[in-house]
Amino acid sequence: MPWNDEYWEKEEVLPKKELEELQFKRLKNALTRAYDHVEFYRRRLKEVNLTPEDIKRPEDIVKIPFTTREHFAQNYPFGLFAVPKDKIVRIHTSSGTSGKPKVVGYTAKDIETWANIVARCLYMVGVRKGDVFQNISNYAFFTGGLGFHFAGERIGAITIPAGVGNTERQIQCMIDFGTTVVHATPSYALHIKEVVEEMGVADKLKLRIGCFGAEPWSENTRKRLEDAFNIKAYDSYGLSEMNGPGVAFECKEQQGLHIWADHYFIEVVDPKTGEPVGEGEKGELVLTALTKEAMPILRYRTGDITILENEKCACGRTHPRLLRILGRSDDMLIIRGINVFPSQIEHVLMQIPEVGDNFQIMLTRQNGLDEITVRVEVRDEIFTGEIWDLKELQQRIQERSTGKAKRVIDLRSV
Ligand code: ADP
Ligand code: ZN
Repeated sequence: MPWNDEYWEKEEVLPKKELEELQFKRLKNALTRAYDHVEFYRRRLKEVNLTPEDIKRPEDIVKIPFTTREHFAQNYPFGLFAVPKDKIVRIHTSSGTSGKPKVVGYTAKDIETWANIVARCLYMVGVRKGDVFQNISNYAFFTGGLGFHFAGERIGAITIPAGVGNTERQIQCMIDFGTTVVHATPSYALHIKEVVEEMGVADKLKLRIGCFGAEPWSENTRKRLEDAFNIKAYDSYGLSEMNGPGVAFECKEQQGLHIWADHYFIEVVDPKTGEPVGEGEKGELVLTALTKEAMPILRYRTGDITILENEKCACGRTHPRLLRILGRSDDMLIIRGINVFPSQIEHVLMQIPEVGDNFQIMLTRQNGLDEITVRVEVRDEIFTGEIWDLKELQQRIQERSTGKAKRVIDLRSV
């Protein structure tokens, strides 16, 4: 049941001071559970002579060592669980960037908490009982499918587990069932947009709201999606290590993504030194899961680069906001000494009307110098003759675009 017409839960508008008190109380709790029940954390804290009692103020969190993706690999599969296996009711995995997948476990209470977090996000952007919610995301192993699915049902929306792929059928489903809300990756949404245009059925759609996430996208992509589908398009951020989707989500103001401070302790650090950055400065997001029973992950290096905004939001929610994810600390390209994020290239490309919706960046090195080649899909109407090479390229890129788009091929040798 929603708290009222506007907010799913009263915690969304807790006065800032109360929110911070609740956050710190939960931090102490999570820390104690990790110390008492996870061998890995007990050892890590002992290494730096720390016990949970030493964390007396929120600022003391910097004394706790970071958790990284490598620690997930080292503790594969169940080493980070804080509860006995018979308390775990679900496991998700996510593609580790190299080697073993990251394994995340949930207790029944975790599933409940998570469903409410995502429901909070959907409700925030206007999803209501009676909406038809087509969840165009991967249900196999990943968190995106079931994470949104449970939230849709929680709100009372008609929730369709559409999965990804089979684009024409997805579109037919939207038409036949009167879909009003979709969730997808922005790259797949752009592909759906193209097929809708080919089928000439844009005017048969009843969409109002689109939730897009799991990969970086730009304001220009937002505009393309909003115009093509006649929707409001919202950015959705999450990662499996912190439940999955729902960690941060845009409100109707579309001025950054509210990151839920009652469920996560939020820090932004310099990716090189690990030191906190100044107010409003760009850095790597570091998160602590405060309410996860099965896995109280401490100070996780997300690798995601963003800026934290603490100003009050016009929507009334008191939780801080992330500005759009600018890229990853580990996919930042250094091209002839200049730092480049793929999202910046996307930003430029999407302003050029002749450019299609997909592109790839190829990095090579010639005579010791980095070369960057951007392969760009060109819109159909630009062609006059038979440019089969380009067509073939377009086809190949489209085949990739149902999952997360692979934007970078790095062929440089070190
Ligand atoms: P993996 O991609 O390794 O399988 P996840 O599925 O948990 O792991 O993906 C989490 C990552 O996806 C985040 O750390 C972030 O890099 C990226 N991501 C998720 N949502 C967004 C978003 N809205 N904008 C940019 N990047 C995102
Ligand atoms: Zn807001």
